[in-house]
Amino acid sequence: MNEESQVQHCGRVALIGKPNVGKSTLLNHLVGQKVSITSRKPQTTRQRLLGIKTLGSAQIIYVDTPGYQQSYKKALNRHMNKTISSTLMDVDLVLFMIDRLRFFEEDEHLLENITKAKCPVFLVINKIDELADREQLLPFIDMAKSKYAFAEIVPVSALKEQNTEALEGTIVRYLPENDWTFPEDQLTDRNSRYLAAEFVREKITRQMGDELPYEVAVEIEEFKLVDEIYHISALILVERDGQKKMLIGDAGGRLKLIGTEARKDMENLFGCKVMLKLWVKVKSGWSDDERALRSLGFEN
Ligand code: GDP
Ligand code: MG
Repeated sequence: MNEESQVQHCGRVALIGKPNVGKSTLLNHLVGQKVSITSRKPQTTRQRLLGIKTLGSAQIIYVDTPGYQQSYKKALNRHMNKTISSTLMDVDLVLFMIDRLRFFEEDEHLLENITKAKCPVFLVINKIDELADREQLLPFIDMAKSKYAFAEIVPVSALKEQNTEALEGTIVRYLPENDWTFPEDQLTDRNSRYLAAEFVREKITRQMGDELPYEVAVEIEEFKLVDEIYHISALILVERDGQKKMLIGDAGGRLKLIGTEARKDMENLFGCKVMLKLWVKVKSGWSDDERALRSLGFEN
């Protein structure tokens, strides 16, 4: 290899957009592994998470952010908003995502904040697989250009992986010359323990529909590798007794389903067998209490 080809590029790329726009879905497809959990419900992503993709001379460090919330009532929301503002100060590129061809008030509000960042901003128009009429795309892009001087405007479908490779190629062109931050094969900054807890939380969120609000937390109590098998036990914290009953389900059926699904994801990511035990406990008021948040791993 000559000197020239050893120059490395590396940069941080923030995914910003209103809840449910598809940030975590896009991150997983770009990284090529499920590292960020997703669901139809807002507030699925609670903490900033890095997804890392190394290709050729470039290392892209994606920063997945929690859904931006308009309500400042609860400590959890306050914490998420702070995470977004501090993320903006610290990246080389922003992917501002919207859901198909509309700017909602929430989007406008976000865009206002994003433009304070001194780095280039891409407008990523997601969910184009759901567009009834793709002819509307071009006039919409023209309109968007007049809203802000976006460095690029890229329509994609994160879910169906339409145009995501082209997006990746464009991102690479914007990365500064920098040494890589992470080893070539690392996919995320989070450890297996954290990801295990997140997989359980994803299955709960997906299983429970609107019955269970967002006040659910998962703590890993045991995590050890014995004879090539991960033994993991997780404690699920809910707010009320009724929620505990619903989560467990008739004859424990629902909890069992959650466990089976979460275990599959863990085995897929860790590449070995997993024995998973789940427990449910009532701990009321946790989402409103900063101290409880910290004890559950929501660092500042
Ligand atoms: P986030 O809150 O922005 O992280 O959004 P998620 O990644 O959790 O996605 C929210 C929902 O939108 C999930 O049900 C995804 O399956 C769905 N979704 C994400 N991207 C697309 C897409 O390109 N097309 C369609 N049809 N659905 C998508
Ligand atoms: Mg998310």
